[in-house]
Amino acid sequence: MTSTAVAARPIRSINPATDEPIADYTADRPETVDAVLTRSRAAFSRWRATSLDERATRLRAMAHVLRDNATDAAALMTREMGKPVVQAEAEVEKSAGVCEYYADNLHAMLAAERADIPGREAFVQFLPLGPVLAIMPWNYPVWQVMRAAAPILSAGNTLVVKHAEGVSGSALFLQSLFAQAGLGDDVVQTILLDGPSAGLLLDDERIAAATLTGSERAGAAVGAAAGGALKKCVLELGGSDAFIVAEDADVDAAAACAVRARFQNTGQSCIAAKRFIVVEEVADRFIAALADGARALVVGDPSDRATDVGPMSRRELRDELAGQVDRAVAHGDTVIVGGAPGDGPGAFYPPTVVEVSDTASPIMREETFGPVAAVIRVPDVDAAVAVANDSPYGLSSAVWTADRDRAVAIAARLDTGGCFINSMTASDPRIPFGGVKRSGFGRELGAYGLREFVNAQTVSIPD
Ligand code: NAD
Repeated sequence: MTSTAVAARPIRSINPATDEPIADYTADRPETVDAVLTRSRAAFSRWRATSLDERATRLRAMAHVLRDNATDAAALMTREMGKPVVQAEAEVEKSAGVCEYYADNLHAMLAAERADIPGREAFVQFLPLGPVLAIMPWNYPVWQVMRAAAPILSAGNTLVVKHAEGVSGSALFLQSLFAQAGLGDDVVQTILLDGPSAGLLLDDERIAAATLTGSERAGAAVGAAAGGALKKCVLELGGSDAFIVAEDADVDAAAACAVRARFQNTGQSCIAAKRFIVVEEVADRFIAALADGARALVVGDPSDRATDVGPMSRRELRDELAGQVDRAVAHGDTVIVGGAPGDGPGAFYPPTVVEVSDTASPIMREETFGPVAAVIRVPDVDAAVAVANDSPYGLSSAVWTADRDRAVAIAARLDTGGCFINSMTASDPRIPFGGVKRSGFGRELGAYGLREFVNAQTVSIPD
């Protein structure tokens, strides 16, 4: 790495509920990053030689440390990116769970696979790749890091975390928890850098592979850098998930679920349902119930336990969302609830429901990363499938119908990485997670997630 590869500049975190600055951080200098990469390489030689039992023990320790520090970790997320505190606490618990899941299952996932070849003994063994660079987004500051870290470390890789700049406090706190769990010691290291500077690290021979969760723009940059350097990468990018409601659905249950699916985390989730595609026969009922649900949400101080919807994470992202809704209205769409930010402090935007006139609406074509639901009426389920697939994204989807077999058949027609029937999309350590189309490629979680960062080495021996 050359000394000009990374540029130092200040990093500021701001409380989005009050607009008050929380802290300034200094980006790591090139020589600091250089030393981190050297140590990660050295730690890889040691970590790859650890027994699977030892790795499982460290992951269980991390689960324990996360639970012990849940209150502080949650409060920090609430301050830095405005997540309602009850949701922040749940995020820490889920993050402990992913550590335990891999601790329990890494032996089975990494067991050699035998091939039946007469005259030979042949098998595949799963070896680590080396230091993996993880570039992370701000929307789930603890979960995103842990869902990448647990499988990457299980496989025997080391990790260099580059978190989103606005959550640098959470990034450093998490690093201190890794250290408490016995994973400090250079197995996991955190660097403070801006995105483009981190992307340059793909060229460094000490980095073996990368995983990025974030926007399409960042994904395209990292994908190009990884391609240029001929390195493996996993990209978890944006989404505009369809939520299809068929005429035979339980409409009340669908609408209640839709409120959670769209407004949880103040709508700032890649797998939030964003396009509600409703068969005409039940559309009036569904839209009325969704609107009532949105109106009933408690918006306010994210540190208040009664709050459902806090501020968005940054003012400029709130303004971008407001601009998308304004363009939708100019396009001819109808705001049913919300639709304009208040003028008080903080990056607040109210829970909003917009009935769109057609699929050309900007909020049908673009990802809306905040509390805005786009609803469209369609004549039947065939039309719903066509509208759902008419998107550049393919992360996940939801289908509501009383007929299980029909639901499974609809799922097979949807170009999405997941499909949740009569429920909302939710990540779960036991099942793979990831998208197709412009939502990225590769999978996280489950055995698929672990196998992304291994060398599947063939060993073949004559009898
Ligand atoms: P972002 O792309 O701005 O930032 C994500 C990370 O990428 C940050 O650490 C950032 O510093 C880094 N980055 C930015 N430009 C880069 C570049 N040129 N090279 C290397 N790294 C770069 O995204 P965000 O605003 O933090 O997060 C919101 C986006 O993330 C949304 O589009 C959302 O859908 C997506 N997201 C996807 C998933 C998923 O699993 N698919 C999960 C959460 C968020």
